Amino acid sequence: MARPRPEHLPGAASTVGTAVALAGAPPGCSQRLGAELAALGAEKVLISESEQLATAVIAPFVDGLSAAAALVSPEAVLTANSIRGRDAAARFAARSGSALAVDAVGISRDEEGILAHHSVYGGAYLVDSAASAGALAITLRQGASDLRAEAKPPQIQVLQVAASGAPDALVSSYQETAVASSRPELRGAEIVVSGGRGLGSGENFTLVEDLADALGGAVGASRAAVDAGYISQAMQVGQTGVTVAPQLYIALGISGAIQHRAGMQTSKTIIAINKDPDAPIFEIADFGVVGDLFTVVPQLVAAIEGKRG
Ligand code: FAD
Repeated sequence: MARPRPEHLPGAASTVGTAVALAGAPPGCSQRLGAELAALGAEKVLISESEQLATAVIAPFVDGLSAAAALVSPEAVLTANSIRGRDAAARFAARSGSALAVDAVGISRDEEGILAHHSVYGGAYLVDSAASAGALAITLRQGASDLRAEAKPPQIQVLQVAASGAPDALVSSYQETAVASSRPELRGAEIVVSGGRGLGSGENFTLVEDLADALGGAVGASRAAVDAGYISQAMQVGQTGVTVAPQLYIALGISGAIQHRAGMQTSKTIIAINKDPDAPIFEIADFGVVGDLFTVVPQLVAAIEGKRG
């Protein structure tokens, strides 16, 4: 596994074999990181210590990944399907001549080895991929796997990693941005409440935020809502936005175009509120409310807050 270390990786890995975690760490952090990864279910934790991790974007971590792969000869290498995870997996695959399977929504094993499962064309098809030789490098979509492995006693090994000198971007300076919201990050959130053009205005979009806050969820949006200026583009869910797979996805005033579905169809439970009973979003919703969101959502928020007392 590669940094970042989302909880879904040890759980998924342990369904097909022995989960060995890899963490890149500046010297001195190995024991803490090792204990964290063992608590997530890693049978063994390999630590690639490097001062360069503080300034180089990815190459020292891929050096560690290559050293870890040489040590344990894995059948598959899993990373999160995040920007960093995709970068690491792609570089590892290129260096080692391995096959690369991106944005998997699950993994399994058959008699020939490890399979990665993908949801493609907006979720219209499920396809599997496998490597014909070597370790399959897989980026696994955050939220795609519910499985969590049991905590293990920490077994930590610090790797000796030779720097490859591979080209990399260097961080010369950075500025921390103040976190403007206490809501969870959209990618990887357990609950996502998204609003579409049906909200009608940026002011009305506070209804989406109210419901998200009542549920402790993240806020998302359709592209039509983004294009209309109701909310920032960073919140867009779909083919040209963020892909999410939360436990609960609530779509408010979203028709369910295929480009939107591509980014949320693998959510575990989908609830749609839409005044049009023929809206395509109802084809994939587990629960639907046909009604005016301006009537339904305030009642829903009041009911949730009432329950909380
Ligand atoms: P609409 O389709 O206009 O739907 C609004 C819905 O709100 C309707 O179903 C209506 O019945 C309902 N409604 C209206 N008023 C109320 C009310 N008072 N109460 C309840 N319901 C109400 N879209 C994305 O979302 N994400 C993407 O990443 C994306 N990428 C794209 C990429 C390409 C190349 C293209 C061509 C398109 C892309 N789109 C994307 C756009 C997509 O095709 C749709 O246009 C968009 O998803 C529609 O957004 P919407 O559902 O909010 O709006």
